[in-house]
Amino acid sequence: MINIHYMKKFVFATNNNHKLEEVSAILGNKVELLSMKEIGCHDNIPETADTLEGNALLKARYIYDKYHTDCFADDTGLEVEALNGAPGVFSARYAGDAHNSEANMNKLLLELEGSDNRKARFRTVFALIVNGKEHIFEGIVKGEITKGKHGTSGFGYDPIFLPEGYTQTFAEMGNELKNKISHRAVATKKLCNFILK
Ligand code: IMP
Repeated sequence: MINIHYMKKFVFATNNNHKLEEVSAILGNKVELLSMKEIGCHDNIPETADTLEGNALLKARYIYDKYHTDCFADDTGLEVEALNGAPGVFSARYAGDAHNSEANMNKLLLELEGSDNRKARFRTVFALIVNGKEHIFEGIVKGEITKGKHGTSGFGYDPIFLPEGYTQTFAEMGNELKNKISHRAVATKKLCNFILK
């Protein structure tokens, strides 16, 4: 009898090549990972939910409903305790619609001016759909918001986020260490363990 072993195939509902590379590095060659572009999807899926889980599910459901293929999507936000979890799901457009990281950081530093409570956390949520069944995976890294910007590597809020247990911001420590300890790394590992089991 011929035993044909089919490789599992997933679409990652993102247009961000950096995220694709990060996930494929963990998944290795045991799983076939396709980008939206690779399945011919050039749609801009609207992220209109008011939670990270909601946005991740919205993107995964969009791909599943249109292409009937197993898939997953992610969403990330910076949650600041003194601001009741803001900017959270609105992290990319905190200071307006322009995805302007400098403006976003300036606004956050201003909001926290004079605040002793600078506790914050990055949270990534993955929504996975396999055979129509939905699964959620979460990755959190705790830390605090510094009083000024430090470092130049990374992106987004990295220059003002000091992860717990470290003396350098995400932007000072460099991508290699950041990518080992980050919210996205934690969530990605949980997702990959589930997919590979
Ligand atoms: P998204 O999930 O990539 O859309 O992330 C939303 C927003 O959160 C980004 O535009 C960034 O402003 C911020 N963000 C997400 N991940 C990180 C990170 O690792 N470092 C700094 N900022 C991040």
